[in-house]
Amino acid sequence: MKLLHLLGLAGSLAVANGDRISYDGYKVVRVGAQRDLSVSKIQEQIQATITHVDEWERSDTEITVNLSPSQLAALESLGLSYETMHEDLGRSIAYESRNTPQRRGENEKRQAVDDPSWFESYHAWEDHKTWFEDLHAAYPNNSELVSTGTSYQGRDQFGIHFWGSAGPGVQPAVLWHGTVHAREWISAMVVEYLTLQLLSGYGSNQEVTGFVNSYDFYVFPFVNPDGFVHTQTTDRLWRKNRQPAPCSTNSTCIGRDVNRNWPWMWDANPNGASTDPCSQTYKGAAPADSPEMKGMHSFVDTLRDTQGIKLFIDWHSYSQYLLAPVGYNCTHYVPTLGQHIVMGREVARSIYRVDGVQFVFGPSCAVLYPSTGYSVDYAYEVGGAQWAYLIELRDQGQYGFVLPPELILISAQEQWAGMRTMLRLVDQPFWED
Ligand SMILES: [Zn+2]
Repeated sequence: MKLLHLLGLAGSLAVANGDRISYDGYKVVRVGAQRDLSVSKIQEQIQATITHVDEWERSDTEITVNLSPSQLAALESLGLSYETMHEDLGRSIAYESRNTPQRRGENEKRQAVDDPSWFESYHAWEDHKTWFEDLHAAYPNNSELVSTGTSYQGRDQFGIHFWGSAGPGVQPAVLWHGTVHAREWISAMVVEYLTLQLLSGYGSNQEVTGFVNSYDFYVFPFVNPDGFVHTQTTDRLWRKNRQPAPCSTNSTCIGRDVNRNWPWMWDANPNGASTDPCSQTYKGAAPADSPEMKGMHSFVDTLRDTQGIKLFIDWHSYSQYLLAPVGYNCTHYVPTLGQHIVMGREVARSIYRVDGVQFVFGPSCAVLYPSTGYSVDYAYEVGGAQWAYLIELRDQGQYGFVLPPELILISAQEQWAGMRTMLRLVDQPFWED
């Protein structure tokens, strides 16, 4: 058992030392529900035929999977019809990173933190970290760098905390975090854009000044830094953290799904996560048995016990949803679900007005699928957040996780419109009616 465990670790290190997984020739395809075949039946058939299939998305109407040429042949042998999303995933990945600049931190003359070209390409994790340091340096009087701890591989789970006229730690908290799932690159870019708008607008824009005076903001762009680095060095489609499976499972597979690892309703629904360490949704051997989660939920607990949490958002991609509690039970509706739905509608309208993109809103389990050990449920039911959402950013399945860099800015701008609406509405007295 011990030996297997070590071999697993050695295997992962060998990969980390250079071999980048090639997706050349892979296709990402959508299989729609057919007359006598539901999506869950199709999913069962695919999983029975293709071991550890890389599922990208699933709804009531279709399932999206990433397949090697031989896996695609296996899918075709099932007689299932499909639509192609990426004709050659390797080519799409190369396109996505074609403009990625040199390491920002190493340039003698760094770009200013508010240089809009930051949002024209994706960036290395170290450059994001430098960007946050520069952000704090640009607004030193009302911000500080913060951290929820260190990841399995020892990376800082950095973030920024900023405040208005009341000073730090006084007003109710707004907590945003991104990149729980490593491959969802757009999420860090969007939270950075939102953070920049708030800090740069403070003192000059009246509405923004009001937001920053009313709430204490905590923003963490990378809850899963190890996974994110792994997507850039080795496997663009990695989702989980980089922690080996527990020895007790006898598995050599790597990683826990950090958004199935929150210590709340972790075991509430057998369809809400996987117990297989090789699965993309592996929940871990126990609640919060990942360092990334320990740091994150402790941070939520501290905010609950001090300032209280006004608003919590966990930023993901893709499929354009505004998901309210709860994930663990599709017929359990929280007391403020009505308010969460009305808020979701208003935010979705504001997003739509920017570029005509539609977001679906509603309770997470009922509109998507069951998820246990899940962020919004913890934030709402344990963290006492008045408002809690998980937002799935663009797109709806044209590019999926491999969103071209020219769509970063507009994705961020439409969320800024949505967040301005949300921050205007969170304290409106009409919610009491
Ligand atoms: Zn995600």
